[in-house]
Amino acid sequence: MSSPSTLRVNGERLWSRLMDMGRIGATAQGGCNRQALTDLDLQGRLLLTRWAHAAGCELRTDAIGNLFLRRAGLDDTLPVVMTGSHLDTQPTGGKFDGVYGVLAGLEVIESLNESGVRTRHPLELCVWCNEEGSRFPMAMMGSAVWSGRLSLEEAHALTDRAGVTVRSELERLRLTAPARPRQAVKAALEVHIEQGPVLEQRCKTIGVVTGVQHMSRHEIEIQGQEAHAGPTPMHMRRDPVRVLADVLPALYAATAAHGPEARFTVGCIETHPGSANTVPGLLRFTVDVRHPDAGSYAALKSTVHEVVRSALAEQSLKGTVRCVWEAPGVSFDAHCVSAVRDAAAGLGYAAIDMVSGAGHDSCNVAAVVPTAMVFVPCAGGLSHNEAESATAADLTAGANVLLHAMLALAH
Ligand SMILES: [Zn+2]
Repeated sequence: MSSPSTLRVNGERLWSRLMDMGRIGATAQGGCNRQALTDLDLQGRLLLTRWAHAAGCELRTDAIGNLFLRRAGLDDTLPVVMTGSHLDTQPTGGKFDGVYGVLAGLEVIESLNESGVRTRHPLELCVWCNEEGSRFPMAMMGSAVWSGRLSLEEAHALTDRAGVTVRSELERLRLTAPARPRQAVKAALEVHIEQGPVLEQRCKTIGVVTGVQHMSRHEIEIQGQEAHAGPTPMHMRRDPVRVLADVLPALYAATAAHGPEARFTVGCIETHPGSANTVPGLLRFTVDVRHPDAGSYAALKSTVHEVVRSALAEQSLKGTVRCVWEAPGVSFDAHCVSAVRDAAAGLGYAAIDMVSGAGHDSCNVAAVVPTAMVFVPCAGGLSHNEAESATAADLTAGANVLLHAMLALAH
């Protein structure tokens, strides 16, 4: 038995398994189309289960199709230390998003087996059902049910575009199991490709993820009066587009004032009737705001509403501004975050603390158990794209960080 501190995962095996899994639903462009609860999703689960059985894991499925593969602990009555992610992909997804987190978790278990290292706490590798939300319209569905944020009935009733329900697909694929109480979890970790460009740009191998940023979407609708673009003098128009001239500079400036982590996006602007020689009678636009810091986020969000209202008053126009969607940010557990940071430092990897710009299963998991995440770089920050790619060296590094953070937590 080797000393735990010199333990490393087998990066070649991890890479070859990523490529094996990537063949299930492989696309012509080198990506993957393995959507939730399809035959291909089942094939992926069966392949993983075969590997995990060979590694001595015990399999359990829950009522919403999440898989849990357990490696016994020295004291098997203790709460588990959990890791995992998802095997489903976008229709034009890549080979690494989610899959990497699952296979890195399996690699941790195999490496411990091979070196004869036992942990006091049991370990569990989880595969969350329907993380992507591309077939059934609810991203992070399985982890939401597990954490109690979504009822089993609501999840079962979700339908795809053909009207097929989650429940009927779970039954067809024999992924059903009786509902039972959530297992006790000491800590949960998830390793994932960054899906953004920061690590690559800053030449870092490991992102120590301290949380997920706050985000919300707002819809603004402003009424004007349709008029001919030629004969109507400027001062006699009720032109809703004029509001943008006040609002956009003010909001870009407010965003800049909240620092480099603030995000402000006007993704849709539409006018009605949308004719080049008619002053529009109606303007609609959307604003997406995000910030990792709760105070800055709240300030930026209320600035959006204030700036729009004052521009409406200034221009004597009527309109509405509504928040239509909001996902509160997540602060990961300090102890779990330290375990990740210490593991990266102990292994000598260049690491930085960062906040995730995207949502993950860990957002749901963090609502009920101590959680943290590890990021590794992906080429060009590209994800949800068939060209998604990451280097074997970075993927191995992330799995080594996972291994040592889990060892520390499961001790
Ligand atoms: Zn993912």
